[in-house]
Amino acid sequence: MHRITVIGSGTMGNGIAHSFAQHGYQVSLMDIDKNSLDRALQAIEKNLTRQVNKQILSEDEKTLALQNITTFTSLELAVKDADLAIEAVSENTDIKLGIFRELDNLCPADTILATNTSSIPITQIAANTSRPEKVVGMHFMNPVPVMKLVEVIRGYDTDEHVTESIVSIAKSLSKTPVIVNDYPGFVANRILMPMINEAIYSLYEGVAGVEEIDTVMKLGMAHPMGPLQLADFIGLDICLAILKVLHDGLGNPKYAPCPLLVNMVHAKHLGVKSGMGFYQYPAKSKDIQVAKQFSRKLV
Ligand code: NAD
Repeated sequence: MHRITVIGSGTMGNGIAHSFAQHGYQVSLMDIDKNSLDRALQAIEKNLTRQVNKQILSEDEKTLALQNITTFTSLELAVKDADLAIEAVSENTDIKLGIFRELDNLCPADTILATNTSSIPITQIAANTSRPEKVVGMHFMNPVPVMKLVEVIRGYDTDEHVTESIVSIAKSLSKTPVIVNDYPGFVANRILMPMINEAIYSLYEGVAGVEEIDTVMKLGMAHPMGPLQLADFIGLDICLAILKVLHDGLGNPKYAPCPLLVNMVHAKHLGVKSGMGFYQYPAKSKDIQVAKQFSRKLV
């Protein structure tokens, strides 16, 4: 397996393309938006330079990695020789189902079709193709070049050989793959999102303020960042969408999104990307300059 096509060149797509290119794969990076492809190449170059500065890569390895990436706005051209296509477009079921129908028509018969979805059932995506046994979840973590985990999600019909191929490809990227079954939220988000939701409930019910909750989890549990700050980084709209998938899919009231989270998403306080969430992010930078103490106002 040498030819990888990544569909979607946003936050995750550019990181996935970077990791494969760095490990010697030929990468076709496709997006409908030419500007997103340009931004992706800039981000990849910047992140490779950071690795060179940290002596993780040599200057030559950086140059080779960049040469391994070709960009496309045509899906047909991008996948024509693909051994593996990894979809990393926006988390929207209709868009993803449409792309998988196209991939099924355009890719060679033996191409494995993988999705980086955080929450959409692999089995639903697979059933939309004529090759459900070749459809699998390959869930990278953000930032992809840094994070070791790949959740490998087998759908109801995923062939064991396909799962094994994805495991060995993940290992070839120096990642640690973990195989999980296809149930709502898989493992990562099934555990992470209720923790974030509980932190928001603790704020909503006035148990403690934003910084107190994050400090307890950072210093008490050795988490590198508190759950409220992490929610801001992920995006509160994304957290809400994943909690709804857990709530709908598992039918258990314990997954019901906290009303404070719903309010904040309605108010477009989405975290880093909107400049305001549980903390304020001037210029949408990830550096917290002002921690907003607004728990009392919102309770
Ligand atoms: P993003 O919004 O940064 O990028 C999405 C890209 O998809 C954009 O460049 C957009 O132009 C492109 N796109 C949209 N429709 C397209 C189409 N029809 N064909 C080709 N390209 C198209 O999104 P992201 O944060 O990179 O997330 C991508 C996927 O990865 C989602 O399924 C998300 O749930 C999942 N994910 C995200 C994270 C994270 O932390 N951001 C972590 C794990 C998984």
